[in-house]
Amino acid sequence: MRARYREVNTVYKRRYAIRIALLHPSTYQASLTSLGYQILYYMLNALPGVFAERVVNDSSPPRSIETGSPLANFDVILVSAAFELDYPVVYSLLASSGINPRRERREQEDPLIIVGGPSPTANPQPLYHIADAVFRGEGEKLVEPLVEALASSSSKKKALEALASAEGVWIPDLKEDARIVVVEDLDSSFHPIRQIQSLDVEPVWGKSLLLEPSRGCDKRCFFCLEGAISKPRRERSLSTLKRIIDEGVSVNCVNKVAIYALRPFGSPQGQKLLEYIIERGLEASIPSVLLEDLDEHLIELMKKAGQKTVTIAPETPVRALQNRIGKTYAREKLLEIARAVRKHKLSLKLYYMIGLPGESIEDVKAIVEEVKEVRNIVGDFQKIKVSITPFIPKPLTVLSRAQMDSPTSLKLKTRMLKRQLSEVVGRVDVYRISDALVQYRINKMGKSAIYLIEELARLGGTSWHLLVEQRIRKETSGGLEELG
Ligand code: SF4
Repeated sequence: MRARYREVNTVYKRRYAIRIALLHPSTYQASLTSLGYQILYYMLNALPGVFAERVVNDSSPPRSIETGSPLANFDVILVSAAFELDYPVVYSLLASSGINPRRERREQEDPLIIVGGPSPTANPQPLYHIADAVFRGEGEKLVEPLVEALASSSSKKKALEALASAEGVWIPDLKEDARIVVVEDLDSSFHPIRQIQSLDVEPVWGKSLLLEPSRGCDKRCFFCLEGAISKPRRERSLSTLKRIIDEGVSVNCVNKVAIYALRPFGSPQGQKLLEYIIERGLEASIPSVLLEDLDEHLIELMKKAGQKTVTIAPETPVRALQNRIGKTYAREKLLEIARAVRKHKLSLKLYYMIGLPGESIEDVKAIVEEVKEVRNIVGDFQKIKVSITPFIPKPLTVLSRAQMDSPTSLKLKTRMLKRQLSEVVGRVDVYRISDALVQYRINKMGKSAIYLIEELARLGGTSWHLLVEQRIRKETSGGLEELG
């Protein structure tokens, strides 16, 4: 059955020549927090003759939010795939909509399927048998060539041929050497003022205006996919940001600004922006902050802006491993931040990675020791959360050719950390090993990933997680004692 959402700032059109479905293979709630998705929605709908509708993974078969139309009714399906785990979901959503997920088996009259997002940008190969095209880059750069190609072509084949001349468009068998394209001048690029505001569903960080002060990251950590594909780091000017805030909070009737950036305080402007938000009497939601960008004054400002938690990703406390992943920090800096967090009565969330190349079990135990030191400063163990993620070698990163740790080893390490850290902090989240393995395998398999994607789609999310987890559990049973 079709899900209905009560929201404002939805776009409806009566007359149009081109219909585009923007497929977000996740929940409606997740789609509300994706600024890239909303940028495409409003940019496309600003064009005369184009009607772009949103489709999320909320029913089978899925239907558009605006008019309840099935995917098969659209000229184009533009898929936003954040990571490889979205591919089996897209496969299933297409199949349930009566569209053959296999590109070679689709007909000329089927919609054109174009996939974009961080993972397809880094490695389009796994989508070879599914997508008619993959867009490698930032979505804004696709809008004009796509609409021109559709408007000037009488068939899907001709539209694809026209699209082949556009930068960033990767087309199986026709053009497989597309380079990644990014927006050069972020300050003058489109930023939606009116944004989708749900009347019933609360986004994870609350009702807010999504604001993108900067894009990309200049740190180039050796494991980071986002840093590898979105470069250089670009900023919007403070005057532009102030204008977006002034108009945006008013038309969206919100009093919170959700900052959307990989490195929000990578230049002095980040702090000035936060000061402006406070000056305007608004609240801010701030993402993970690079440790070297933080100081006590910034934490004080975050508190004034209503932020409850400071999020940092130290990744590993071991200097040799820090050097290997290209992200270093001094322990004293982390402890200084812990003191500021305590002083301003905030919570602290720490992200660590395990399974790093050359990592020993002692290196993993060092995470527990570091967290204990931090906890001793913060005092209240309930105010600390730790998140553990396995290292996944991602394409285009410096560590793309590194080996992923074995499932058995990862499982033993996560079990040990979960057990020991649970005695030290209020909450420990562990990323699912099966999710990490699937991402790694899909990338490694390249064009043959279709077999794995099909298998995962057939099993469905819950079943394949159980299957992989069962297999790992069988291999690891009894091995925990060795790790102490
Ligand atoms: S600082 Fe963060 S966003 Fe930037 S490259 Fe490193 S991990 Fe990626």
